[in-house]
Amino acid sequence: MTYASEIHTFHSGQTQPESSSSSLKFTSIDPSTGKPLATIYTTTSEQLNDAISSAQNAFRQWSQTPAKERAAVLIRAAAILRERNDDLALVETLDTGKAWSETSTVDIVTGADVLEYYAHFITDGIHGQHIQLRPDAYVSVTHEPLGVCAGIGAWNYPIQIALWKSAPCLAAGNCMVYKPSEVTPLHANILAQIYIDAGLPPGVFNVVYGDGPTIGAPLVVHPGIAKVSFTGQVSTGSKVASQAASDLKGITMELGGKSPLLILPDADVEEASDIAMMANFFSTGQVCTNGTRVFVPDVLLDQVEQALVKRCREGIRMGLPKEHDTNFGPVVSAAQQIKVNSYIQHGREQDKATVLYDGSIDAHFPTKEGFWVPPVIFTGCTDDMRICREEIFGPVMCILPYSTGGPEEEWLSQLIERANDTEFGLAAGVVASDIGLAQRIIQQLDAGITWINTWGESPAEMPVGGWKMSGIGLENGHEGIRAYLRTKSTLVQCSKGACGGVFTAL
Ligand code: NAD
Repeated sequence: MTYASEIHTFHSGQTQPESSSSSLKFTSIDPSTGKPLATIYTTTSEQLNDAISSAQNAFRQWSQTPAKERAAVLIRAAAILRERNDDLALVETLDTGKAWSETSTVDIVTGADVLEYYAHFITDGIHGQHIQLRPDAYVSVTHEPLGVCAGIGAWNYPIQIALWKSAPCLAAGNCMVYKPSEVTPLHANILAQIYIDAGLPPGVFNVVYGDGPTIGAPLVVHPGIAKVSFTGQVSTGSKVASQAASDLKGITMELGGKSPLLILPDADVEEASDIAMMANFFSTGQVCTNGTRVFVPDVLLDQVEQALVKRCREGIRMGLPKEHDTNFGPVVSAAQQIKVNSYIQHGREQDKATVLYDGSIDAHFPTKEGFWVPPVIFTGCTDDMRICREEIFGPVMCILPYSTGGPEEEWLSQLIERANDTEFGLAAGVVASDIGLAQRIIQQLDAGITWINTWGESPAEMPVGGWKMSGIGLENGHEGIRAYLRTKSTLVQCSKGACGGVFTAL
């Protein structure tokens, strides 16, 4: 096993984490057993200052390192991640409770993909512009790194989030101080060591540990930080954005959602049900882009409901996350278990939604102490129910039936209006046989990430980010690296007679 039982801050241009004198510490817990995995020493303010100043020192050299050399480091880091995939997947599985079948095929691989994508992107050239103004003058537009960027991660995709932030940041020539979620911290020092082993100079990628108030907020407001890239809840994101605004720092905000999945009347029921399962129960429902509001037409309602119940009964294998056959683990923490269960109770008692499937009835819990929450499907839901308006971030699907009576134009426009009736704008999807119609609907949905006849895949080439309260800015794709660059314009006068001689001495 590659994680340490005692975890310390990784900074100050070190090639190893530094033992801490910090008196504050916290514990990482295995969600499947409730047992402690490691003790983490909270970064002290002195260590935080050291981490930022070592990143500032490293920036001078790293920002001047030729793109080809920076790319070679990223490619080597990706290769190490791939070689150690199974070991790292196990660390993520222990820390998050996510099934090994997921972490071993998604979390590390999609992080390595992004490193390779940006390595190729920078060697192909970050294209500037050359604008000929007159025969003797031109404007050159170049893109330059920002300096030291802060990365702050959520707990649901720990190493993937750290890589989706650090890969474009470092590729563009910046340095990073990264704070993982205090709930899932095991991956961060391992990643820092992989970067060092791949040849990244010490100080370019630093890790600090602690909760939001103790370490997150001081990191965000530190004057040495040029930009903050944050992933987490809307309420935290809004706080972080206003803290960063006090000295006009750049921000990227990847926040929550309550995304709609629209099943159209011509959809294939089996395919639509597979997609709805994926959009709700992958990672035990703890995915920001989940399609938790599933709109089902009256003409398919019975069939879709039956297909979903069948899949819940026969397709969900709740078990110890590290067992290879498991595809449904516990939720990440006791706090998350309480939160999700309280939404389920609210759905039953206050919203009075109909329970179509309640996984707890015949669930066999793999351990007594784990944070298990079996899947639940509510049907007959209406737009005003709290379970349909707030992000639950657990395995709870809401079916919202819609009528297809009357002219198609009318029910379609009502459906689109209902889908958009939310403060969020992260993701959306349409399942239909008529792809042309699906595309026309997608154009009218308020969401930054959309899918037709699939759900959840998010390759390195695809820029992802939320609209409305779901975020600001993008990760991945060409746009993802632009977020770590600033533009400089230079007007070059190639002949004498600068400024038309206005102030030339007579
Ligand atoms: P959270 O907001 O509770 O915490 C996220 C991070 O912010 C943690 O590292 C935390 O320590 C830190 N933090 C808290 N207060 C802070 C402060 N004042 N200043 C600086 N940092 C602070 O979120 P979470 O519960 O860890 O994650 C779940 C949320 O993340 C969900 O809402 C989910 O939708 C969202 N998410 C979004 C995306 C996306 O790409 N849009 C991806 C993954 C998760």
